[in-house]
Amino acid sequence: MSMLGPAEIRNLAQKLDLRPTKRLGQNFVIDAGTVRRIVRVAEVTPHDTVIEIGPGLGSLTLALLPEVQRVIAVEIDPVLAAQLPETVAHHAGPYAERLTVIHDDALRIASADLPAEAQPTALVANLPYNVSVPVVLHLLDVLPSLQRGLVMVQSEVADRLAAGPGSKVYGVPSAKAAWYADVRRAGPVGRTVFWPVPNVDSGLVSLVRREPPATAASRNEVFAVVDAAFAQRRKTLRAALATWAGSPVLAEEALRKAGVDPGARGEQLAIEDFARIAESRSV
Ligand code: SAM
Repeated sequence: MSMLGPAEIRNLAQKLDLRPTKRLGQNFVIDAGTVRRIVRVAEVTPHDTVIEIGPGLGSLTLALLPEVQRVIAVEIDPVLAAQLPETVAHHAGPYAERLTVIHDDALRIASADLPAEAQPTALVANLPYNVSVPVVLHLLDVLPSLQRGLVMVQSEVADRLAAGPGSKVYGVPSAKAAWYADVRRAGPVGRTVFWPVPNVDSGLVSLVRREPPATAASRNEVFAVVDAAFAQRRKTLRAALATWAGSPVLAEEALRKAGVDPGARGEQLAIEDFARIAESRSV
């Protein structure tokens, strides 16, 4: 497997006059062991079309290409997007035709932007930290072909994404991610594997697509209840959902109809409970 070592990364950065920005979450992995680990834990196969968000200088892309059918790399930075095919041609020439680079914001990607015969089956990415949760939710939403994912995010975000009801860190990202996928933490990553070194530790998160809860309510209706329930985290659902329902009395009615204790708090509910609450008002 061809890798970008610290020296190659330094040379590339110098050649491109790269000044990594926090705004774009530009922390590049310089440790080959971490790259290998991500590919291994992702369990990609030669049948997979992988969507990689933020390929950056290409460390992970180079490691993915020999293992899968195709990599669709979506990069927002025009300089990095333009450089990637050259890097791949140089370090992974035989696999170069497996790469498709899309210069765009991952949050604007839609299924129609991708070749019909190359709808992604797996997401593998070292995500830009500031948009990691919206990117994960957006891709699960707009790419129905996506069956699973392995992403590296800030450790605290990994905890939040994988948390279940009753956990202190269970919240909007956990509940919404659970609509689409079974989510679990897949191991810690220290900060020294990056250049530049970030102020926080990272973690791997694995996602496996699941059927969304069976409900007559739409996804948006369910997510509106999730947002309302956690907007005032300390309040009981009766109070937190008053505006959503129209009044505390209507909120109580909807909760009882859904079989949920009006005195409970949002952090105690699973996505199936939120779905039943939304349904109790949508039918
Ligand atoms: N994959 C590379 C690695 O592991 O070394 C780089 C990962 S770095 C944490 C995040 C990358 O995402 C950067 O290359 C950055 O330019 C890119 N990026 C940031 N925001 C983005 C967005 N909204 N859409 C696509 N790429 C984005």
